[in-house]
Amino acid sequence: MSHNRIIVPIRPGCSDGNHLHVPKQGTLTQVIPPTLYLEKTGDQWMERRGHAQPGAKYVLDRLPDGYTMWQRPRPSDPKHIDKYLYGHPQSKLFDSPNRFYMHFEFLMNNNGSNIGCQCKLCSGGSGLLPRSTLSSAKASTDGANIAASSRPSTSKSAAAAPAPSFYKQSAAPVISAPMMNTPFASTGSLTQSKGRPKLVSAGAGSSRVDEEGTPDVYRNLIDKLKQHQVVDEAIREPLSPDWYAEQEILPGLLQSLKTTGQWVPRTGDIVLYVRELPKNLEIMRHEVTEEFQMYDEESEEMLGSPLWEAGLVAENPTESSSIADLHRGGNDRSVIYSGVRVEPLPDPNSEDKSLSKRHKHVSLRQTRPFVLWKELLHNVSQDQWHPTIINALTVMSTLSLVGKFRFRGTWPDANIFCHGLYIGSEMLAVGDTIRLLPNAFKKQTYCQEILIIKSIRLRYSNLDKASDNDYDDGRPYNSNVFIYGAGYSRDQSQLNKEYLSQDNAEPPKAAAEYGEWYPLHPTNKELVVPYTRILGRLYEREAMAFWLNAEPGHPPTLDNGREALEEARDFAHQRDRRMTQNPGTTWHWADCRAESLNLRTINGLDVSKHDQERDVRDMRKKMKVIEDMENDKPPANKSTGLASLGSRGLRSFMAPGTGDQPALTREPSSSASGTASSSTSTSSAGKKRPNIINLSDDDEDEIREHTRIVDNGTSMGGKKYKVAVVIK
Ligand SMILES: [Zn+2]
Repeated sequence: MSHNRIIVPIRPGCSDGNHLHVPKQGTLTQVIPPTLYLEKTGDQWMERRGHAQPGAKYVLDRLPDGYTMWQRPRPSDPKHIDKYLYGHPQSKLFDSPNRFYMHFEFLMNNNGSNIGCQCKLCSGGSGLLPRSTLSSAKASTDGANIAASSRPSTSKSAAAAPAPSFYKQSAAPVISAPMMNTPFASTGSLTQSKGRPKLVSAGAGSSRVDEEGTPDVYRNLIDKLKQHQVVDEAIREPLSPDWYAEQEILPGLLQSLKTTGQWVPRTGDIVLYVRELPKNLEIMRHEVTEEFQMYDEESEEMLGSPLWEAGLVAENPTESSSIADLHRGGNDRSVIYSGVRVEPLPDPNSEDKSLSKRHKHVSLRQTRPFVLWKELLHNVSQDQWHPTIINALTVMSTLSLVGKFRFRGTWPDANIFCHGLYIGSEMLAVGDTIRLLPNAFKKQTYCQEILIIKSIRLRYSNLDKASDNDYDDGRPYNSNVFIYGAGYSRDQSQLNKEYLSQDNAEPPKAAAEYGEWYPLHPTNKELVVPYTRILGRLYEREAMAFWLNAEPGHPPTLDNGREALEEARDFAHQRDRRMTQNPGTTWHWADCRAESLNLRTINGLDVSKHDQERDVRDMRKKMKVIEDMENDKPPANKSTGLASLGSRGLRSFMAPGTGDQPALTREPSSSASGTASSSTSTSSAGKKRPNIINLSDDDEDEIREHTRIVDNGTSMGGKKYKVAVVIK
């Protein structure tokens, strides 16, 4: 390297390079350093960015990871040396720095993603996500557990929230009677949730409040745990309008999920959909190319690929749907009732959210779970993709929790129990059957295990290791999300007759058509997995068969969409700016769904912090009125509260589809809003707390005994769990 060159550092982490792509041994010699590429690319890059000084020469400090230069004498003309750059994810060669430059610049500008790259190698490719992205990012996926727990969130707004929340949409009837009578209900300001909680040191005493003055229930509970050593209580956030809103919606939502097929899109899901699909057209898989195309049954013609868009389900079907409805001619019901309202997904990295406004009601036969993107876009080159596809891929490594209802802890550990969560493109709730990613410890390479969710927990561990200052620096403490439930396998070698009992004789929900299932443990134990092992909801096989246009002899397997999901998560790590701007993060934990997707509006209404009209103090005054009204009643017990709300909640949940009137959108509860401080003490501190149970060591032992944690193949290094880790 010449001395008079100025070293130009490349942007760290910006690579799609494949370390494994190197020539066969003995054929070529590696050139170290790859000066030719470093110099030419360095010069061009500085020039392109307008930073080049006249006469100056530049040299990159290194090539993007995974790229290596090799050479050999040309066999037909040994005096001529051929030089190649290896490492392109499609295992193709760059034969000159000029050819490489376009790809290099694209990587630098897109955080190492090559999706959309127009260079010769990329644009001549198949249009699929590069394989190697998968392998190169594998390490980070495997490390996700750790990374996520120590520093799970990257954006400031997400970082602090110990417990994410939930965005919901609801029609006016959802608002409970007392709320309806307050001006609060008519302001429409229900749509927002709170931003990230902040510490207010002055005047807040020992209790924690967020920037809007709402007490931070979680931090206060942690403080309380520290003081009392043991806490077990329902989470109530009497000062949070969002919390109230969630109480209204959740029961109905959860109730409806019990009776609805898992294949039916849910509010907050991201789906693929075809905007227009005339009645005479079907989406069929081409027998030879396996490409999904529109097929005209009358003319018996294949009409080319449909234009798949990715969109947020903003309203789910208000009429119950059967899988038979998917097939054409099932009925003529208006899609307003039987279909879903979808809103094209805007780019989470961009301020431009105008795509959201192009919403549409589409029938369920026009939608597919987003996790099938790779199959449905098979053979469709990237430049043909609708931009929303990339947008959806970008948010596939996001997580937010729904309905946090109980805090239970024994210092220095604690769990917050939740009703559901959003992960990537899907919403999951207690009671669902989910597919699990392959277990690396068992050397699984494809999906063969499922889990019936019994509880969803945000777990804080080693709270004693955190100082008070940790509060304001990202997520406080070690936290992670675990799913507890009953595990089953399709793998007969997992069969242990001792595990069989009356209680697990029935096949899990949505699983029957896939064949025999073998319990992974006795019914008095639970399987525990970190959220990173979630593949998604188990979709009924019949629905999968319809979506994938499967031949009767080749029904879909449990593994369909798994690879696509893994690729999508890797892609998201590399493109979601909230992660790429914080190297090392592989998941974005958000307060609520709208924040995960970085949305401004849902159903046309402002959400979250983007709602400028929010006036918290005013709202709280009104909430106080409600609170006082409630206090005149017998103390509300959480479960009866839920039960009594159940029917109304259910109706409300079903109602929003009714069309013309836009449903209210909100993301209530919010981790930030809280109980505590003065009003908590008035409402509850004066009372006895019958719900505090002292967990003895025996209890702990029992929990431990009835629990085993199966890791997702990552080391739990450095993390201490109260519950033993049993790796099978
Ligand atoms: Zn390229």
